[in-house]
Amino acid sequence: MRVRFFGVRGSIPTPGPSTVRYGGNTVCVEITLADDTRIILDAGTGLRELGKQLQLEGYAKPIHMFITHPHWDHILGLPFFGPLYSKDTTIVMHPFTPAGAERVRQPIMFDGTHFPIRFSDIPATFKSIEDFESHQVGSALVRHVDLNHPGGCVGFRIDDEDGTSLCYLTDNELNPPGPVTTTPAALARFAHGASLGIHDAQYLSTDMPAKAGWGHSIVDDVLALARDAEVRAVALHHHDPDRDDDALDAVGTGANGWAAVHAPALATYVASEGLSLELTEDGRPPAMKRPSRT
Ligand SMILES: [Zn+2]
Ligand SMILES: [Zn+2]
Repeated sequence: MRVRFFGVRGSIPTPGPSTVRYGGNTVCVEITLADDTRIILDAGTGLRELGKQLQLEGYAKPIHMFITHPHWDHILGLPFFGPLYSKDTTIVMHPFTPAGAERVRQPIMFDGTHFPIRFSDIPATFKSIEDFESHQVGSALVRHVDLNHPGGCVGFRIDDEDGTSLCYLTDNELNPPGPVTTTPAALARFAHGASLGIHDAQYLSTDMPAKAGWGHSIVDDVLALARDAEVRAVALHHHDPDRDDDALDAVGTGANGWAAVHAPALATYVASEGLSLELTEDGRPPAMKRPSRT
């Protein structure tokens, strides 16, 4: 399985000179399965560049899309996804909840008011798999879990036939001040042994208590979950819009230091736009490729 990050920012895009290294696009991750099926996790503004890549590569099979929840930072790229405007494209939505299925039928972004093109006028073919249980997508089995986030959110686990596995958990507050939808222990069981965990790590402990209840996690809580779940690697994701490149470098240094003491076998990454991770089934940490910038 290959994982490519096209957007890693939470809440709102953050272009500008202080975010060029990690990127300012909101969350969007592409998965390439063992049988070359492409899965898109979230449709933030990074989706625009991903669409260009798919067209450049001539990818012609159905594109499977999983959206964790409909907050703007997870859907804003949809109208600018180039493959939408080709009649040869098939997009398969996997809503996983009745409310999500309803949003696929009536997407607010394509109502003619929020964007000039109506849903019925999009050339691509949309399909919706309304199977709210685990189901097969290409060579992988995909499961979901409910997360702790205002308005609700779902996370995913993808187990590919080549033995690699990915757990995508964003947006999620591991230790919310109010009612808990899924406990960290239950999430650790859900993610257990995954080759890579990707988790919302928007906050530092210094952001609390001001942002308690906002639905995002503290970096140290994410690392503790990764250790408890015995995942081989964790990618910190959904960065705070106020965290610039230098601040994210410091997050990475801190995460490496934490892992050296508490979980020496755990590889840690700070997700960045263009980062590509090749997952392996033999227990080695994912091989990493960084984008070359010109
Ligand atoms: Zn978000
Ligand atoms: Zn959200």
